[in-house]
Amino acid sequence: KASSLGQTLIPVVNKLQDICSQSGVSIPINLPQVAVVGSQSSGKSSVIEALVGLDFLPRGPDVVTRRPLMLQLIQTKAETEREAGGNRGISEKTIRLKIYSPNVLDITLIDLPGITRVPVGDQPSDIEARIRTMIMKYIRHPSCLILAVTPANSDLANSDALQIAGNADPDGKRTIGVITKLDIMDRGTDARNLLLGKVIPLQLGYVGVVNRSQEDIMRNRSIKDALAAEERFFRSHPEYVNLADRCGVPQLAKKLNQILVQHIRECLPALKSAISSQLVTVTKEYASYGETPDTRAGQGTLLLNILSKYAEAFSSLVEGKSEEISTS
Ligand code: GDP
Ligand code: MG
Repeated sequence: KASSLGQTLIPVVNKLQDICSQSGVSIPINLPQVAVVGSQSSGKSSVIEALVGLDFLPRGPDVVTRRPLMLQLIQTKAETEREAGGNRGISEKTIRLKIYSPNVLDITLIDLPGITRVPVGDQPSDIEARIRTMIMKYIRHPSCLILAVTPANSDLANSDALQIAGNADPDGKRTIGVITKLDIMDRGTDARNLLLGKVIPLQLGYVGVVNRSQEDIMRNRSIKDALAAEERFFRSHPEYVNLADRCGVPQLAKKLNQILVQHIRECLPALKSAISSQLVTVTKEYASYGETPDTRAGQGTLLLNILSKYAEAFSSLVEGKSEEISTS
């Protein structure tokens, strides 16, 4: 079953990803991540916050996310294990934040700076090109899922999100359209055609959401309240009633989980062969040490032999005789 498979697979993939980034090795495994793209103030941070269920991201009408923020969500059973805010940078560019919560999906989300056109403050004149390059760096990877966020009160045909997602993913195989701000559309209009993919089709389709408004944030409305309000919104708008599977943050989370599980499934064969070949290497090395002696004295001798082999290899490396340390 897809859901139980996801529950066992995703933590494993997260762990692998962790090990890789800590040890700086690159292994040929496509690790799924989710990046959120769109123009400034389109609602990217709000969408991430709603998905995570915590209230902590820089967000607001003119707050700019200046550095990519990588959120690794880890589901834990007990509330006491929660440890939101363990903050640790892994590169000069990316801020990496791990969130332990009983209320999240185990996924990695990347909040990217929004696309802007006009430089403000001390921003360089080529700010737009710089931001686009930064975004592309993340979303061009075939394993990256793209949440393309467009507000419902703007023209989808001019969507920065869909445009840049289309550059990275021309076949639309890994782009989910997210339509925000359904609550503040012009009176008499609705997003049905957008959500049905009749304006710009996307293979993975669209989800419409209602996040907290600036006023909600100023009044400290909680995410929980906001989710309840979103549900009421969709229930009380007849135009969305028969589109229930395309409406609301919970549907977005569900869709993401399904896609992620499918994604990981597709990565499994490559993952398996990478691990097998590493296993062969390690087994060979292990065999080169010979039988493990039973006695302490014998084990000591073996350890000494291994150490002196390393020492020899090391000194010849230092003297420039050998290119690399060999253990066999
Ligand atoms: P970002 O720049 O793309 O990360 O956008 P933010 O998430 O910071 O949102 C920008 C502003 O739009 C904030 O004031 C949010 O409260 C508001 N906002 C976001 N989503 C919605 C929505 O669905 N409805 C309403 N009314 N306001 C929203
Ligand atoms: Mg933001």
